[in-house]
Amino acid sequence: SLQDRLQSAFKTLRGKGKLSDADIDQVAREIRVALLDADVAVPVVREFIANVKERARGAEVSQALNPAQQVIKIVNDELVGILGGETRRIRFAKNPPTVIMLAGLQGAGKTTLAGKLGKWLKEQGNSPMLVAADLQRPNAVNQLQVVGEQAGVTVYAPQPGNGVGDPVQVARDAITEAKRTLHDVVVVDTAGRLGIDAELMQQAADIRAAVNPDEVLFVIDAMIGQDAVGTAQAFLEGVDFTGVVLSKLDGDARGGAALSVRSVTGRPIMFASTGEKLDDFDVFHPDRMASRILDMGDVLTLIEQAEKAFDAEEAAKAAEKVAGGTFTLSDFLQQMEALAKMGSMTKLLGMMPGMGQFKDQLANFDEREVDKIKAIIRSMTPAERENPKIIDGSRRARIARGSGTQVSDVNQLVTRFFEASKMMQKMAKGGGMPQMPGMGG
Ligand code: GDP
Ligand code: MG
Repeated sequence: SLQDRLQSAFKTLRGKGKLSDADIDQVAREIRVALLDADVAVPVVREFIANVKERARGAEVSQALNPAQQVIKIVNDELVGILGGETRRIRFAKNPPTVIMLAGLQGAGKTTLAGKLGKWLKEQGNSPMLVAADLQRPNAVNQLQVVGEQAGVTVYAPQPGNGVGDPVQVARDAITEAKRTLHDVVVVDTAGRLGIDAELMQQAADIRAAVNPDEVLFVIDAMIGQDAVGTAQAFLEGVDFTGVVLSKLDGDARGGAALSVRSVTGRPIMFASTGEKLDDFDVFHPDRMASRILDMGDVLTLIEQAEKAFDAEEAAKAAEKVAGGTFTLSDFLQQMEALAKMGSMTKLLGMMPGMGQFKDQLANFDEREVDKIKAIIRSMTPAERENPKIIDGSRRARIARGSGTQVSDVNQLVTRFFEASKMMQKMAKGGGMPQMPGMGG
């Protein structure tokens, strides 16, 4: 799978202290093959690889991340970018009803999507109406009525005399009806063909012109692979659309369509369909899709948190102090504050091999714990902070009184400090953060 291929590409960076151009070329080649095998369109792959290479070459030596992590981060960022960056939400009309038109090939998942959208909109507090403007297939109107019923949403279907045979008229009448009955969102389901077809495009374009939709969602089956690009381009030219819905992502082992379509059409992916049931549907989040593709959720979370908390300069300063034997309790306090920022300490330590030994001690480590540590350290004299070795029994008792804590708390803090110094020394020798699982070192 794309996931496995990317991971094995990153493994070639195992144990590298610094990235050479040759390393970057090699990993870029492997990523390229992985993307092409996943049916990502060739021009998209080309641009992607060029961007990754350029950024990897220009990457500064990071204190917080090793080279493999740095490349993973770059690839992740580029994936998020190619998938559209920000999550794009529906643009609702200032004056209701908001009209959402669906377009796409037959079998893409439009009618199913209409039901999903209807249910989702209703859950968001809207009052949606679904419109059966697919009069091509005998069963299409009935299919929409069934999903509408499942979703608990009104369906506008052509009745004898109100436009049977003319989907444009049905769509137009539906808007009038929605205004009259105070439905604030109208979802117009349209017909599709098995292939790109001029007559079909014209019909969709005519419906578009008649109802002037706020959003035209192009629904595309994520499993169609390389055909995705041509189909998307044909609909862009023939009908034009404001957003993309990827359907059948549940069956998409390769993910290429997701990566190509937004990039080729310039239109954002807005929703993802992941099954036949009405709840198998979600707003599309580029960042989540990228980490799904990389399948390295834990590593990415860790990288993000490490970057947030470990200001590169501060880490460098601390490492220097450790190496020079001048790491003090004040530095320790700073580190504790940074670690608290990282969030769930226990979970994080679980992700770092070699740090499991501190897991129990630091379980339940939270902001309140930091406040206590702060109070204790503030009750120390500057000399004690600089050189904790001088903190004997009588000093401990004084510090405990001064900070409103127990002597055992002070003991624990001093012990932790010496352990942290040792850990920092190890990290300083190892060069930055401890290694990630599978990233070697
Ligand atoms: P339309 O022709 O574009 O209206 O497509 P339909 O909504 O009728 O869907 C075609 C087929 O695909 C139906 O059997 C749906 O149940 C199925 N389908 C739709 N969306 C999904 C999805 O996200 N995942 C899966 N596995 N099947 C889907
Ligand atoms: Mg349909």
